[in-house]
Amino acid sequence: MTIGVDDDERAFPQAEDGKALEESWLQICSRLKGEVGEVEYRTWLTKIALGPVDGDEITLLLPTRFLRDWVRSQYGDRLSELWNQVQPTIRRVELQVARPGDPVAPPLALATEDAPVAAPSIEVEDAPRSAPEVRSDLVTTLDTRFTFDTFVVGKPNEFAYACARRVAEKPSSVGFNPLFLYGGVGLGKTHLMHAIGAELVQSGNVSVAYMSAEKFMYRFIAAIRSQSTMEFKEQLRSVDVLMIDDLQFLIGKDNTQEEFFHTFNALVDAGRQIVVSADKSPSDLSGLEDRLRTRLGCGMVADIHATTFELRISILESKAAASGVVVPGKVLEFLAHKITSNVRELEGALNRLIAHANLFGRPVTLEATQDVLHDILKAHDRRVTIEEIQKRVAEHWNIRLTDMSSARRARAVARPRQVAMYLAKQLTSRSLPEIGRKFGNRDHTTVMHAVSRVAELMERDPAFAEDVELMRRMLES
Ligand code: ADP
Ligand code: MG
Repeated sequence: MTIGVDDDERAFPQAEDGKALEESWLQICSRLKGEVGEVEYRTWLTKIALGPVDGDEITLLLPTRFLRDWVRSQYGDRLSELWNQVQPTIRRVELQVARPGDPVAPPLALATEDAPVAAPSIEVEDAPRSAPEVRSDLVTTLDTRFTFDTFVVGKPNEFAYACARRVAEKPSSVGFNPLFLYGGVGLGKTHLMHAIGAELVQSGNVSVAYMSAEKFMYRFIAAIRSQSTMEFKEQLRSVDVLMIDDLQFLIGKDNTQEEFFHTFNALVDAGRQIVVSADKSPSDLSGLEDRLRTRLGCGMVADIHATTFELRISILESKAAASGVVVPGKVLEFLAHKITSNVRELEGALNRLIAHANLFGRPVTLEATQDVLHDILKAHDRRVTIEEIQKRVAEHWNIRLTDMSSARRARAVARPRQVAMYLAKQLTSRSLPEIGRKFGNRDHTTVMHAVSRVAELMERDPAFAEDVELMRRMLES
């Protein structure tokens, strides 16, 4: 049997002396990014550069005193912990302001948005090489942030949530094993898995192992290298609940898939619960072995849909309330409109607002929000033009493009025109007067009226709302 370690070898996280600092740092960054989210990570942590190591102390450098103080107060302890985990010879982390001429390794470019990011901190740690009967090291310490209580339920995720709850209450029940959760990035898969784990651990004597699929692979390869695959298998097969996050990473890793398949079967046969997450449904995970795919689809398959505006608002409300900072409804609405891609980003944006409010003791306002989140909002500014909106809307409602700027007031024409104005307001950063000008030189109050009229109709008429939403999504993509 040949083992596909070639590419994976380089990323393999072994805590050994002499491991290149950069490599350790890359790992730490990736962990941190997973923990704090893309936005927070980009705002504060990409500014750190590696400084010199002196004995058991590493110096990290920041460009300004403000950043140094902020990073020290918010991430100092975590940075020390992570360094110590990844590179045990390092016991202390010193944060300093970089001076000209400091011997500095440049800040590291980290994985891009869609590259894998390590799951938050409850991953199982690497087992000691010679571990004999270390079932306990697979048992997860849970991150208190991800519980059912902090998970906000709405239409897009209520089914997945109900399934997760059910598994947490009654693991291994017929029809729910395996539980397969799937959905896009940042929609709460990991959160739900941790919530299941937390609930089970709390309820009593249940051993839960949670691992990203990547981690599963690393551990498997480590076991092969150290000729301890038997221990690895036994460890895995001794848990009550095995959760594997982001299974799509096993695509193309045939040997690891095979191992997972056997573990999977052994556990299910022994009446244990499996929970798996992925970005696609089992049938859409092409590249997965057929027999594994079949087994994965045998239990309960639950998808988490993209968030709706309502769900985004609820999530923001709940997170704002938990933070203790007063965030006006207008700001929450603004964020929920602007950041639609995933909850992690939404949360990151809100966290940044809250951090600023705490730091400067200023109330959160819409103006402050636009200022503080300038860069994020720019990135999310969909580059849709008003012309494009007019064209699509006219096509959809079957009116002439010229009627977008004509004076005709018949409802068959006026309504789509209003929708186009509404969408122009939602999807572009144009001001009301600018929008008015593009619609046959109408006044900004006309645009304002159109926006509120369409919003009102959407409230009242779900079919109409769906139509408009569909339009919006088409334009956004
Ligand atoms: P995924 O694993 O699907 O990529 P995560 O579970 O990591 O997504 O979620 C990303 C972030 O968004 C986490 O901080 C999580 O707590 C938060 N989140 C996602 N969905 C919800 C929700 N419905 N309620 C509260 N927080 C959520
Ligand atoms: Mg995840």
